[in-house]
Amino acid sequence: MQKDRRSVKVMDIDFVNKTQYQFLVEDIFPGLQRKEKKFIVTANPEIVMKAQEDSAYKKVIQEADYTVPDGIGIILAAKLLKTPLQERIAGFDLTLDLLNYADENGLSCYFLGAKEDVNEKAVKKVQSDYPNIHIAGRHNGYFEFDDRDLVEEIAAAVPDIILVAAGFPKQEKWIAAYKDLFNHGLFMGVGGTFDILAGEVKRAPEIWVKLNLEWFYRLTQQPRTRMKRTLKLFEFMWDIIKDRKR
Ligand code: UDP
Repeated sequence: MQKDRRSVKVMDIDFVNKTQYQFLVEDIFPGLQRKEKKFIVTANPEIVMKAQEDSAYKKVIQEADYTVPDGIGIILAAKLLKTPLQERIAGFDLTLDLLNYADENGLSCYFLGAKEDVNEKAVKKVQSDYPNIHIAGRHNGYFEFDDRDLVEEIAAAVPDIILVAAGFPKQEKWIAAYKDLFNHGLFMGVGGTFDILAGEVKRAPEIWVKLNLEWFYRLTQQPRTRMKRTLKLFEFMWDIIKDRKR
């Protein structure tokens, strides 16, 4: 059974089947207004594959409030499974929309993740581009998972939005482990987003995104680090094709 008709299952994960606009306007913005506690996973094929190998991680994703399809691989898989999704919702785009909303509504954000200098630069960029956002605090992503002092420090800052850019599965596992210690807040794992905000990594130009070739652009930018991850994408597609034939 799928969670509801507005979701599509790919390898045991229920994906939000809405446009990014619908998702924000119907679910996320009202939740922020009501000061609810919500957890968004932005899952690409690598995350789905990781969840197949790591049952604890799969449980974390299945228990999140929303999993959005971040990556053309998920969109293709849903199509091959004859349950097409409405559109890709990329973590980076979602982050920008959230920052815009936070700016318009004077919300507070906490920035946890990335290397110290990257984190600092990303937060500076947010401060200058979104001056009405209240910066609840920031910390690099190289913390100990069990660092309770850090969790308590973040919770004490009472942020409305908590962006965690510490790579998967750490970022999602950290959110699942500690979100109960917060009264409210929108939590989202955002991977390499701070690197892009800080200008350390370039996002693929629009044309590559439109042609669904963002993964290929990233491979050309960082061939050594991306090769293994790109192979995972092909492994994922192959598993979907095998499953479909069964
Ligand atoms: N990172 C971190 N803590 C860690 C491991 C990674 O903060 O323990 C950061 C890393 O510096 C980078 C981000 O997590 O900023 C992961 O970026 P990646 O490009 O792998 O994410 P993607 O968006 O591709 O999932």
